[in-house]
Amino acid sequence: MPARHKCQEIKGLASELLGRFLEGHDGAAFCFACLAAMLAMTRSEVIDAADRLRSAGEIEVREGRCANCGRSNVVVCGSVDSDRR
Ligand SMILES: [Zn+2]
Repeated sequence: MPARHKCQEIKGLASELLGRFLEGHDGAAFCFACLAAMLAMTRSEVIDAADRLRSAGEIEVREGRCANCGRSNVVVCGSVDSDRR
């Protein structure tokens, strides 16, 4: 498998992991540091994945309180589409 293809696959997987995680925590918001720890990814991988999902309109990145560490921070949550409820 060509290296470039594999790299893209991993990036796609990271955003898929992040998307699924947020979906499983319906509406909860988490900071990048906690997401990185919980998903076993680096902070930059989480930021990159969040960026992709945000561009796709699947998640929201905003100021808020992290559901895991309780700190006010830039948080990521998956409750953008209200027509799912
Ligand atoms: Zn946190």
